[in-house]
Amino acid sequence: MLFRQLFDPVTSTYTYLVADPQTAEAVLIDPVLEQVERDVTLLNQLGLTLSYCMETHVHADHITGAAELRKRTGCRGVVPKQAQIDCADRFISDRDRLQVGAVEIEAIATPGHTDSHMAYLIDGTHLLTGDSLLIRGCGRTDFQGGDAGTLFDAITQRLFTLPDSTVVYPGHDYQGRTVSTIGEEKQWNLRLAGQSRDAFIQLMNGLNLPDPKKIAEAVQANERCGNVASVMA
Ligand code: FE
Repeated sequence: MLFRQLFDPVTSTYTYLVADPQTAEAVLIDPVLEQVERDVTLLNQLGLTLSYCMETHVHADHITGAAELRKRTGCRGVVPKQAQIDCADRFISDRDRLQVGAVEIEAIATPGHTDSHMAYLIDGTHLLTGDSLLIRGCGRTDFQGGDAGTLFDAITQRLFTLPDSTVVYPGHDYQGRTVSTIGEEKQWNLRLAGQSRDAFIQLMNGLNLPDPKKIAEAVQANERCGNVASVMA
C-alpha cells in the first residue's frame, strides 16, 4: 500500500493519499480545496489514477477539494450516508468496505464531533480518525449535531477496542504532531484516559472555543460537495 499524509498549514488539516501501487488506483481522504493543485501534481508524478475522494465528515473549517477533484480527475465523491448530501456519487455507512485495488477501507461510524462522522480503517492497520480522536485530544462537540457523550462512546467503544498497535492518523493537528497509536492514546490522551463519561462531557461543554473563521461558507459549500460556485449563486 502507498500511504501519504499531506498537510494544509492554513487550517492545520491532514489529507491522506492511499493507493494500490500495483493497480495505480488511488483515493484521497479529506482533500482541501486550496491544495487541489498539490494533490493533482502528486497523483501525476506518482502515476496514480484517482478513483475516489472521500470525506470523514462535513467540515466546518475548510472547503473540501472534492468538487474540483471530480472535475479535474473524474474521480467519484464518497460521503457518509447519514450526512444526507445528495451531490455525492457514493454514500458510505457503518462497516461498509470500499475497495481501491487491493486496499480495503472500512468505515467506522464515530459520531459526536458531527452526527454523521466516519473514521476509516485502511487494511486493518492505519486508522484515519478524522475529527473524532485527535493526538492527545479530540474533535470539538459544540456544533453540527455534535454531542460530547456520543463522542466519548464512539471513541471508547469503537476506536479504543481496536488493537493497541493500530496506527492513528488524525484529521488535524495544531502542534505539528503527525501520528500516534491506539495504545498510546488510551494511555496518554488525557481527555479520555481514566476519565468518566460525565467528566468528559463536563470538560467538552466547558471549552468555549471560538467558531472556525470560515464556518458559514465552509459548511454551506461542503453540503454541496465543495461546489463553491453554487454557494456564490
Ligand atoms: Fe471537523
